[in-house]
Amino acid sequence: MQDIYNELAKKLKINKIEHCPICHSTDSSPFEIDQIGHKLINGVKCDVCGLIYMDGVIDQDDLPKFYDGYNQARNVVDEDLEAKRRKMYILDNEYSMKFCSSIGLNILDIGCSEGDFLNTFGPNHNKMGIEIDKVAVSKGLSKYPDISFYLYPYLI
Ligand SMILES: [Zn+2]
Repeated sequence: MQDIYNELAKKLKINKIEHCPICHSTDSSPFEIDQIGHKLINGVKCDVCGLIYMDGVIDQDDLPKFYDGYNQARNVVDEDLEAKRRKMYILDNEYSMKFCSSIGLNILDIGCSEGDFLNTFGPNHNKMGIEIDKVAVSKGLSKYPDISFYLYPYLI
């Protein structure tokens, strides 16, 4: 999966993060000690306040290039990880419901992929998902007609 990220990242405009988002220091150290190979975006640790952050972000205009088909590729590459993710969705649902009534919730999932997590909540809720991957939104619309999908940044 890391190879897919790196190949995609080479085609994208990366905006370098020069200052710590918290204290604005320019002094940082590599965070990923066991890093293998060059990556366009690396985790770094601020030498002043200790915040760990990524030293680059994908340019806003290139976000759809990175995320279109991202979820589908992720699931095919590692089926074991996908199974773990589905189990995590059930655990997250159970945890969430400890703090909510059992019917009539308005649930928003930002970065919802195909809506698999939202679907764990069943039919008695108003479920909305925002996703940047248009392939995932298309699949989600056919899998879960009771979920309202919004394609970021268009929010159709
Ligand atoms: Zn800092």
